[in-house]
Amino acid sequence: MALNQSAHPSDLPPRRVAVLGSTGSIGRSALEVIAASRGHLRCVALSAHSRTEALLEQARRFRPRWVVLTDSQKATAEFRRGLPPGTQLLCGQEGVAEVVRHAQVDVVLAAVVGAAGLLGTWEAVQAGKIVALANKESLVAAGGLLSAAAKKTGAQVLPVDSEHSGLFQALQSGRRDEVERLVLTASGGPFLNTPLEHLPQVTVEEALQHPTWQMGRKITVDSATMMNKALEVIEARWLFELPPEQIQVMIHPQSMIHALVEFADGSVLAQVSPPDMKLPIQYALYYPRRVPGVAERMDWTRRWHWELFPPDPERFPALELGHQVAARGGTAGAVLNAANEVAVERFLQGEIRFTDIVPLCRAVLESHAFQPQVDLDTILRLDRWAREEARRWKP
Ligand code: NDP
Ligand code: MG
Repeated sequence: MALNQSAHPSDLPPRRVAVLGSTGSIGRSALEVIAASRGHLRCVALSAHSRTEALLEQARRFRPRWVVLTDSQKATAEFRRGLPPGTQLLCGQEGVAEVVRHAQVDVVLAAVVGAAGLLGTWEAVQAGKIVALANKESLVAAGGLLSAAAKKTGAQVLPVDSEHSGLFQALQSGRRDEVERLVLTASGGPFLNTPLEHLPQVTVEEALQHPTWQMGRKITVDSATMMNKALEVIEARWLFELPPEQIQVMIHPQSMIHALVEFADGSVLAQVSPPDMKLPIQYALYYPRRVPGVAERMDWTRRWHWELFPPDPERFPALELGHQVAARGGTAGAVLNAANEVAVERFLQGEIRFTDIVPLCRAVLESHAFQPQVDLDTILRLDRWAREEARRWKP
């Protein structure tokens, strides 16, 4: 996706931000960034799905113009009574669409988890907004469509995912045609050194223990299988419009180096910061300005040891699958993403083993009728189809 790098003059009025998925890990961090912005960022809309108490608390604190409950069933009379005066309640995907299209929203922070976030991202891109994109599943499922739509509407899609934010920052020191390689780093997750024969027995609790990042459950399991990095290769392919052969993954257990860009002359630029999502969130919300913020900073008084080494394909078979899907494009991303969402859910429910997740995704991908050209209806239809297949799959 061609990222428009036109300057944002510093004397512009405060940016009005709609936070989609405000009750999640990224949503809550974004609200901390907004709270610390001394009025430069204003939260005008919040959306959540199930955590109504948390949403009400946020609404009372930030006094947005709108709150959206995507699960309309949760919009009880009691919930309505809990809203502060002046905050309007909207429901469902229509509510999300109404908010993101509104002229009084400048930036949409897309932080819903999974393909459930696709329609919100789509509407924001259609409306030509600045889209601070955490919801990588949107790009995995519909990267080609979103990219084409952004070019048409002038929407600016700014990555929030830490590796892509790092790439985006490092890319600014050279021209696009001078880029040789993008390197995404991966911590390796909780099973980096677990004996391979023990992997089929790992428990949900073990998979949810991420060594360096605090995140929602779905992405934490994705990090353990490395499917997260597979999705990120696809995400990078669409964001930066580079063929997947030029996108590489390296293991870096300390999660301090988020990304590296190698240029034609052999020079490599890295983006480094402690593992704290508030920094990439802030960078996207203020882009292109940099301001002092609330993210954790480097400690330059201590000794650091940073490792970088290539991943073991046998331990992390998801990576190979991600590269294949990135190369294929078309409907493959939507199918992989949907199959993986169901696989993670089934693992969390104790229905399948940890090591079943990737074979399940591969089986669903292999049985789908691939189409190179896609539209939104096809993607939504295949998303539903892949979920059904993934629910039926047996080891
Ligand atoms: P969480 O699970 O913590 O939060 C998800 C948010 O989405 C919640 O607000 C939740 O609402 C909402 N939501 C869940 N289901 C639906 C639905 N069906 N319709 C609408 N809204 C829904 O996820 P994270 O914050 O960890 O991740 C959000 C996105 O950011 C993901 O795409 C992830 O890959 C990406 N990301 C996250 C990182 C992290 O550090 N957490 C890092 C990089 C990317 P409720 O809680 O009310 O149910
Ligand atoms: Mg990431």
